[in-house]
Amino acid sequence: MKRVLVGLGVLFALLLAILVIRALPTGAPAAGGATVEIPLDEPAIAGRLAEAIRIPTVSPAPPAERDPKPFEDFLVWMEGAYPVLHATLSRERVGGSSLLYTWPGTDPDAAPVLLAAHYDVVPVNPGSESAWTYPPFAGTIADGYVWGRGALDDKNAVVALLEAVTVLIESGFRPERTVYLAFGHDEEIGGQEGARAIAERLESRGVRAAWSLDEGSYVVEGVLPGLDVPVASVNVAEKGYLTLELVARGEGGHSSMPPPETAVGILAVAIARLQDEPMPSGIDGLTAEFLDALAGHLPFPLRLAVANRWLFGGLIASQLGGIGPGNALVRTTTAPTMLTGSIKENVLPTEAVGTVNFRLHPRDSIADVLAHVERVVDDPRVEVRMPRPGNEASKVSRTDSEGFRSIARAVREVYGPIVVAPGLTLGGTDSRHYGRVAVDAYRFNPMRVAGGDVAGFHGTDERMGIEELALGTRVYIRLLQIAAGAADAPDAPEA
Ligand SMILES: [Zn+2]
Repeated sequence: MKRVLVGLGVLFALLLAILVIRALPTGAPAAGGATVEIPLDEPAIAGRLAEAIRIPTVSPAPPAERDPKPFEDFLVWMEGAYPVLHATLSRERVGGSSLLYTWPGTDPDAAPVLLAAHYDVVPVNPGSESAWTYPPFAGTIADGYVWGRGALDDKNAVVALLEAVTVLIESGFRPERTVYLAFGHDEEIGGQEGARAIAERLESRGVRAAWSLDEGSYVVEGVLPGLDVPVASVNVAEKGYLTLELVARGEGGHSSMPPPETAVGILAVAIARLQDEPMPSGIDGLTAEFLDALAGHLPFPLRLAVANRWLFGGLIASQLGGIGPGNALVRTTTAPTMLTGSIKENVLPTEAVGTVNFRLHPRDSIADVLAHVERVVDDPRVEVRMPRPGNEASKVSRTDSEGFRSIARAVREVYGPIVVAPGLTLGGTDSRHYGRVAVDAYRFNPMRVAGGDVAGFHGTDERMGIEELALGTRVYIRLLQIAAGAADAPDAPEA
């Protein structure tokens, strides 16, 4: 017996040693201080973002209700605000009010790159206007911020890109590879007119970009408890979108003589089953890469768990799955959102319909979700139908590519100590379209956004820090110097 105990003790000590050794910091530290100094006229840049916000380029649903005037005004404003850029790059209107700029490279054989942003914004929620500290379309500059609708999503990127290219032109820079700038006018309603048409136009010319960069994430702080450095989440994929309807049918009649189960009761059971058994979660692929990139900067117990995924993978997945954003990161989510039944309280329903919205993790396809729903509902009386085609999740772009390395290097050089990690965009963006003409599609705006400001996305008091806007502009400048310059090639990938 004693020998068995000693044996177990040795085994346990060995296991502990393995766990700890694996959790020791590995790979590159979060770099030293910022290594590039790029002087910028920050108040002037903030002023131009404020001007952009004052033009209410609102994308309504349905699009037929769009007021074309602000969109025309915006295009005129761009020309006036960035004359040097407009004298150097060619510009074409595509798909209505979207724009494609071409900055020809000196090397016609080099694969081009595509940088994108959108200048339409979501409407302000009716009734919430008075809750804003400054009116949403006033473009107020105060307290170190530019305030208003579009400050975060996504006029900040439009302005920072235009600023970056202007600075480079004025410094005499000429790109070696062709640089495309794409500015969509209908991203908030799917980009069906703008980004899609831009992608089709490039495709028709046989353009194949090495990579594209569009919105999808930011430099964020405090994403995990105890994480002491900011994280640049350079997203390498975006989730898919699918809505299904579950339909249960019944005889109808008076509710005083109901059958054992009504259509509503049958439907309720089906929805409860779906909610109880979501699609499987997992720490694999890009989620694993994301955690690995962060691992060295986590407090010890978390680092121990992340470094030993072979043992704690299930635990991490279930912990992450327990919080909304974490759950969205590790699996295809299931959200029952709408219900209809009888038209009257004392009339038996002949039909009950439940609407369930799924956001697909890249590991799952629409066919996988359909099979899962059929299996879990497990009731031939419930019909599963797809009211309109869904979108598959995007493909996962590479992290060992020249594009990812260039973005990571530019971010590190501008920010100093920072973790660059491949992430997943939970919503839909124009990258869905641009991805068609690029080998890799990255989703990241290089501005820093504090945790509290995230609520401004599509919400109240949307604002962008002036300093943060300048940091983003510097990353774009540095990125173009690294990726499109004749200068030195990007570093080898950092572990
Ligand atoms: Zn956006």
